[in-house]
Amino acid sequence: MRSVRNPPDSSRGRFNLSPAVTTTEDDRLRKIVNHLQESGHRITPQRYSILKVLVESREHPSAEAIYRELGTIFPTMSLATVYKTLALLKQEGEVLELGFSDLGNRYDGNKPYPHPHVICTDCGAVVDPPQFDLEKITREIIRATGFTIMTHRLDFYGLCPACQEKSQHFAPTTDKQGST
Ligand code: ZN
Ligand code: MN
Repeated sequence: MRSVRNPPDSSRGRFNLSPAVTTTEDDRLRKIVNHLQESGHRITPQRYSILKVLVESREHPSAEAIYRELGTIFPTMSLATVYKTLALLKQEGEVLELGFSDLGNRYDGNKPYPHPHVICTDCGAVVDPPQFDLEKITREIIRATGFTIMTHRLDFYGLCPACQEKSQHFAPTTDKQGST
């Protein structure tokens, strides 16, 4: 049985299920730049800035959010440039793309491997919970199903603290209005 610790070598663009220890933002940025350069990709100033926004953000930005953030620095940059850079990072396994039917695609450039997320159904905040061990569960799933596991997706939905507060302030106090 293939161990979950040893994903296939030809895993270009696939996920590494046993990530290295957490690195600083600078280390992470340098690592992505080196990886892209080693695989023959040019690092333009626009591309570098997109990487920087991705790595410095803890908010799992959308392509549009990255585009908006860089709009003042690169007024002529197109949204397509952001999408192309994200596609390249995805191909090189340096970003985790999270697709949501209602939030669109969101991106994690810090942890480009599968990990759980906590999602606010009101404001769309996407947060990394503290790291916890999914390896045991994965091993159990492999044992019980006979599948080889390549990746996983685990999302928790609810209201973030700010939206809980908001919903208390604006709680419906006009229940009887309109029900004459
Ligand atoms: Zn919220
Ligand atoms: Mn994340």
